Amino acid sequence: MQVLVINSGSSSIKYQLLDPDSGEMAASGLVSRIGESVAEDATTVEHRSDGRTLEHQGAIADHAAGLRIVFDLFARSGHDPRTAGLTAVGHRVVHGGEVFYRPTLIDDSVVESISELSSLAPLHNPANVTGIESARTLLPEVPQVAVFDTAFFHGLPEAAKTYAIDAKVAAAHGIRRYGFHGTSHEYVSGRAAELLGRDPAELNQIVFHLGNGASASAIRGGRAVDTTMGLTPLEGLVMGTRSGDIDPGIVPHLVRTAGLDIDGIDNLLNRDSGIKGLSGVNDFRELFRLIDTGDEAARLAYDVYVHRLRRYLGAYLVELGRVDAIIFTAGVGENNARVRADALAGLERFGIAVDPDRNESKDRAARYISPDGSEVAVLVVPTDEELAIARAAARLVA
Ligand code: ADP
Repeated sequence: MQVLVINSGSSSIKYQLLDPDSGEMAASGLVSRIGESVAEDATTVEHRSDGRTLEHQGAIADHAAGLRIVFDLFARSGHDPRTAGLTAVGHRVVHGGEVFYRPTLIDDSVVESISELSSLAPLHNPANVTGIESARTLLPEVPQVAVFDTAFFHGLPEAAKTYAIDAKVAAAHGIRRYGFHGTSHEYVSGRAAELLGRDPAELNQIVFHLGNGASASAIRGGRAVDTTMGLTPLEGLVMGTRSGDIDPGIVPHLVRTAGLDIDGIDNLLNRDSGIKGLSGVNDFRELFRLIDTGDEAARLAYDVYVHRLRRYLGAYLVELGRVDAIIFTAGVGENNARVRADALAGLERFGIAVDPDRNESKDRAARYISPDGSEVAVLVVPTDEELAIARAAARLVA
């Protein structure tokens, strides 16, 4: 059985061809700089298969052109999806709004609804639709499934998902907290339950997905009861380039005093804020290089980041009342021992501790970093959104 997973961004397509049962990957790749003018010899597609990398150079006009090139590279590497008897194509879709809360078989009306949700995710949903349309044209016989980033948070309690603004305005414009990274939160919390040898229905968990984008969630008995991202992926934790929580009063203040318009504010908060806004760099490896040279701004950026993590940790400990596991995942969460240690420092009285040797281990597998016998298990669990999407698509089609 093979599923092609497609994750279309505004100017990129990430993809994997994999077996949803074993997780074995036959091929993967990245199309980048779609729609940009690039040098003739610039590499715009990298396709990895059987230990080899095939490349394509030159401009890619649009997503459809990008996928056609990908299919040709697949064919050259002996895995043509058009003849491979694919079980399904799984598409990551960012915003499912109020409409979609489980993996959904794609037809014309589903595409239309995803497109209509673009006002809630203007950077993401249009790109997702383009990827879906291209894949449907290239693989008309293969079932296509949409898996939504918001789905895991669809059942958030009313108190957690409601913004305290005029209820009529909120209702008219779909303003509520939706949450994102749901596929990852659901996947790693499930893997954590396996590692603990417990039924997810018995467990209370807190998940920190710390990548370039970052979010946390509180999960009770397998269901999300709170998360840090809201109407958009801007709310909550400090991120690589996004501010996370700010006083909403900053927005009108900047309009009045700095003369920024809506696009200027959108850019400021999404692209020029967070770790990058405070330190000049958004990658954690570079941030630590700066901190180690004594850079004060980088130090402050890190302190603000950890302060925000701990604020939400405290909130979720109280919301859940009892916590069985705390899980770190994604680029920073999986690789950065210092963030994990600082996020949980001094919390022994809550039953939370980190074993320094386990925390520093370079082991890539899902693992404990708390000492044996700890009341709260602290775990590092590598996320795998592609595998989760492939499994969801295969299950639906079966
Ligand atoms: P995205 O949200 O783009 O998927 P990732 O989950 O890849 O982001 O996370 C990117 C972040 O993870 C960067 O800040 C990067 O520095 C950090 N990171 C990735 N790999 C490592 C590593 N091996 N060691 C330390 N940090 C890492």
